[in-house]
Amino acid sequence: MNMYQRESILQYWHSKLNKKLFNNELEVAKIIVRNDEEAVKNAEEGIEARYIDWYGRDYIVFYPYTWMAEEPETDNETIEVPVSVYDVTVLLHEMVHQYCNQNGIDDIDLNGKHNENFREAAEKHGLTQYGYQLQAGLEDEIDAELTWFREWGY
Ligand SMILES: [Zn+2]
Repeated sequence: MNMYQRESILQYWHSKLNKKLFNNELEVAKIIVRNDEEAVKNAEEGIEARYIDWYGRDYIVFYPYTWMAEEPETDNETIEVPVSVYDVTVLLHEMVHQYCNQNGIDDIDLNGKHNENFREAAEKHGLTQYGYQLQAGLEDEIDAELTWFREWGY
């Protein structure tokens, strides 16, 4: 799976989770998977993904350290690690930021930490543990579909 396939699959999940968990109220966000120096730098600082509202257009950018660390020699075209439940969880976390942004909800405190508003929005939209884990039933559902994807070569 190369980074463009990852982007397509995550784009699919954005649309699917938008329908399922957000009543289709989120704007279409462009999913970008980066595999460059900035991605490594962000990933090393613990930033896995980021939601960006750039002049009114929504982007979710992934800095996927896990497989970059596993296969540091890979180039853009030869990343073999499939999209995981973890990736979808990170996506959903960023979608909650997108939801908060669209609805004027302040979700990050001045100290840079996720606040109570974020937690509330996350729990309303399929997440637990302050927005870092999927609710159990949802996790099973996503896992089953990803397994199906993998059986078809994605
Ligand atoms: Zn966050």
